[in-house]
Amino acid sequence: MNINDMEIVLSIMKNSGYSEVVDVPESAEIIFINTCAIRDNAEQKVWQRLNYFWFLKRHWKSNVATGRSQSLHAPKVVVLGCMAERLKDKILDADKMVDVVCGPDAYRDLPRLLEEVDYGQKGINTLLSLEETYADINPVRISKNSVSAFVSVMRGCNNMCSFCIVPFTRGRERSRPVESIVKEVAELWKEGVKEVTLLGQNVNSYNDASGLEKDVEPGSNWRFSEGFSSIAKVKKMGLRFADLLDRLSLEFPEMRFRYTSPHPKDFPDELLFVMRDRHNICKCIHLPAQTGSSTILERMRRGYTREAYLDLVHKIRSIIPDVGISSDFISGFCGETEEDHADTLSLLKAVGFDMAYMFAYSMREKTHAHRNYVDDVPEEIKQRRLTELIETFRESTGQCYDSQIGTIQLVLVEGPNKRAPDTQLMGKSDRGHRVLFANLPIPDRDDVNTQRNPVVGDYVEVHISRSTRASLFGEALAITKLSSFYNIMDE
Ligand code: SF4
Repeated sequence: MNINDMEIVLSIMKNSGYSEVVDVPESAEIIFINTCAIRDNAEQKVWQRLNYFWFLKRHWKSNVATGRSQSLHAPKVVVLGCMAERLKDKILDADKMVDVVCGPDAYRDLPRLLEEVDYGQKGINTLLSLEETYADINPVRISKNSVSAFVSVMRGCNNMCSFCIVPFTRGRERSRPVESIVKEVAELWKEGVKEVTLLGQNVNSYNDASGLEKDVEPGSNWRFSEGFSSIAKVKKMGLRFADLLDRLSLEFPEMRFRYTSPHPKDFPDELLFVMRDRHNICKCIHLPAQTGSSTILERMRRGYTREAYLDLVHKIRSIIPDVGISSDFISGFCGETEEDHADTLSLLKAVGFDMAYMFAYSMREKTHAHRNYVDDVPEEIKQRRLTELIETFRESTGQCYDSQIGTIQLVLVEGPNKRAPDTQLMGKSDRGHRVLFANLPIPDRDDVNTQRNPVVGDYVEVHISRSTRASLFGEALAITKLSSFYNIMDE
């Protein structure tokens, strides 16, 4: 999400006449730091970087004298993103460390805020918006050579999970119109992008109501996954996430689509069916569980029980066989007992995740938990439980990788393997696994008389022969088209 936000910021700055992006902060005239406030250690890192930029500001003249900087004035430091909203007073009070504080919905205001600095003011705008989606802004891609890109389809979150600060820093949910997304993807396709990841804080709650009549009643037909609920009011229902995927996958049949980050409550059957039916929608689902204990889930205000979560996993796997599932877990949330923790370990084992992101709980100000609960699990217990979560995940994930041995996977080549750049290539399978294979000439199915080495952006059929817990290894068989590969597999 932050990469995509930076691409939007770059586009806004470019349109205001700032044309050049420098490689190092030492030679910059404006330094942007895009922040995340979700976990305490992310915030600590931001303060460390700000201290370094403060050092650069104070030593700007000597940097110019030694040729390290060609900037005509000391760099302006701009704090963007979640932390801007949450800590604006603290950031601005920090002497002359920061010049501009700009929240995630105020990026259009950046040129004006920077001008205020020229007149000796500090620039600040952290207003959240009910409408801003930056739909009309064409992001400037940071990594021009990459075959994959991010496209933001909605912003904000209406759920009020008790541990989470996102609704306070990113505001309410709003979705971009489908047409603006199709237009952006078409541009990316022209640039040679082969894989798009659709982004949103609650991406599968996507709801493009822009085409609805004003007097349409709030959508009583909004469907959640079975056994799931939300404390957020259901809005009027427009085009949903399944509709968006349906449109994109049909319009761009040779492009792969992924998405993140979804909430498990928004997996109605039609979303699972469109994923099953379209070869270019990757068969991997991020399904944040957070904990395996129904008691803690209730305290987290997640809107489901352990049983409902496991039923959903079962349903997903019955509709989309061979789907990869990943998740998020928090250890040591307020009131978590050893029994609750054991429930999380058993859920990890029962599901067998391809990937899991696991963190020890850190309480954030403003959240429901901060106002109502006590952060009562001692740090050493949180860390011990986190270690146990990681170990349990590692033991079970091996099976996910092993299950791919003997299969043929379609791999999108991303570049050389960094550990063996002259001899091996690396790419991702549909399920999101990292796949490594020898860089040798292979047949090109589009041109039967040709053998050539695969290049970045090619789809390659790879026969998987070996796995570790983080990678698959195999033999490249042929370069192909995405649609040709699945037509052959379907026969
Ligand atoms: Fe935070 Fe995700 Fe819950 Fe929204 S759904 S409040 S982003 S954890």
